[in-house]
Amino acid sequence: MRKRFFCRRALAKIRGVCYNYCIMKRILTDVHTYTTFSPDGRDSIEDMLSCAHAMGVKYYGISEHFDFDVLVNNIQVFDHPYRHTDSAAYFSKARQMQTQYAGKMCVLVGGEYGYTDTAEAHGMYQKHYDTYRPDFVVNSLHNLINGDYCRGKPFKKPDGSYRDKEEVYGEYFDLVLRSTQVEYPWDILGHVSYCTRYAPYEDRRARWVDYADAIDAILKEVIARDKILEVNSSNKQGVSLMLPDTDILERYFELGGRKISFASDAHFISRICEHRDEIADILKAIGFEYITVPRCGEHIKVEI
Ligand SMILES: [Zn+2]
Repeated sequence: MRKRFFCRRALAKIRGVCYNYCIMKRILTDVHTYTTFSPDGRDSIEDMLSCAHAMGVKYYGISEHFDFDVLVNNIQVFDHPYRHTDSAAYFSKARQMQTQYAGKMCVLVGGEYGYTDTAEAHGMYQKHYDTYRPDFVVNSLHNLINGDYCRGKPFKKPDGSYRDKEEVYGEYFDLVLRSTQVEYPWDILGHVSYCTRYAPYEDRRARWVDYADAIDAILKEVIARDKILEVNSSNKQGVSLMLPDTDILERYFELGGRKISFASDAHFISRICEHRDEIADILKAIGFEYITVPRCGEHIKVEI
């Protein structure tokens, strides 16, 4: 009896050590996700958080869409009228859920602010930030004045033919640079190279070597402003595993950039932390040692 008891205890101890080791090796972060509060989110906040928690996620950030660019420029994103996120309802519910998960998973209540080059929208973002005080803001460019890259309009001329890739991508990177210089607060520069996800060109990649000056200017701005460059694993068309691609991340590292976040950009539960492990391996190979999680202005380092 005594011997069997000892064995069970020893086994439990070994299991405990292994379990702790696994947790230490894989602290999961996913900061930039959605729920049905957003017009394109498919799963409820309850289901998204429950799934993330079951997966062992330690830092989970919700970043509903706040698209004052769509509002101000009257952009038609979908075939139906655009349903903007109800800010008051979202922040109220998300804060409640944040309290509910306290001690189990760090839930970050944030937002994704869609950039446009107009003072009116910038003022609206500042007011939104002052009113709701999100835990973090993802600064993202989705739209040209005539529509979202995801719907194809920025790639087309008025006659319906396609614009040159160099012209479209150059314009995109110039706008991303301008987005880094806004006055309203932000923490993470979201999905750089977003236009490549939806581009109609045979070779859709945006290689650093082809846009070196424009991309360097963006990366230097992120570093100088002590912001975080997002590594986004949502790349629907499969042009690369992540946005931005490895060559741009290597250049960021070379320039001294160390602050990166991981984002699945999940709009439904099955995409939470998607490709996280493969991407972690790539990041480690480049030299990155940690993921940075923004929380109310603080930057939390999480070992990769
Ligand atoms: Zn986005």
